[in-house]
Amino acid sequence: MTVAAEKYKEQVYKMGLRMATSGLVTGTWGNLSARVPREDLVVITPSGLPYATLQVRDMVVLDMNGRVVEGERRPSTEFHLHLAIYRARPDVYAVMHTHSVFASALAVARKPIPPILEDLAQTVGDGVPVASYARAGTEELARAAVEALGNRGAVLLANHGVVGVGRNLEEAFMVCQIVEKSAKVYVWADLVGKPAILPPDEVQALRDSYLNSYSQAAVRNYAVNDR
Ligand code: 13P
Ligand code: ZN
Repeated sequence: MTVAAEKYKEQVYKMGLRMATSGLVTGTWGNLSARVPREDLVVITPSGLPYATLQVRDMVVLDMNGRVVEGERRPSTEFHLHLAIYRARPDVYAVMHTHSVFASALAVARKPIPPILEDLAQTVGDGVPVASYARAGTEELARAAVEALGNRGAVLLANHGVVGVGRNLEEAFMVCQIVEKSAKVYVWADLVGKPAILPPDEVQALRDSYLNSYSQAAVRNYAVNDR
């Protein structure tokens, strides 16, 4: 395996531990991956194994058609979802899928999260849509998620969970955390009053400033997905 792919196996493994202890997933559900720059390879977590017991060598390396290039384990059942996003979005280098509670509640209610907070507008865009329902692990789910995601940073999977994307693993993880926080805030705001939604021009200005200035140093400084 190339030096770069080895590095991403380590990064995906370490981020898997952080995701598992973040409270965004329960048990063995959820998964994450990173695209290896310039190599048409993706490193993804294995399917159905407890994160706490994983080792770096359990990470699976796939080509862009889903063939296992390296690894003894079965890749995440959501590999179609991850690969479809990488194919559709050249700007995306990391994908995280979680089952966090408040976002899942909205995914069950089939309610998108509107752009209600500045960090959500910055990192995701004009809210988090809900993809039409398809069974977990299917190509149909991958298609539905890509279609609803568009050029945003996250999408809810109906009756299932969340997908967050980013230019590196740190960003994809942060997006999943911000989506969960926003889902909580939205539910609470809806209980105490009528949530005010940021207007489209304000959302666009926030998104532009995040992509073009606010996040630049952080993205450069992350020791992942350097390219
Ligand atoms: P894996 O354990 O296969 O990664 O999948 C869990 C899951 O969240 C399916 O949607
Ligand atoms: Zn899932």
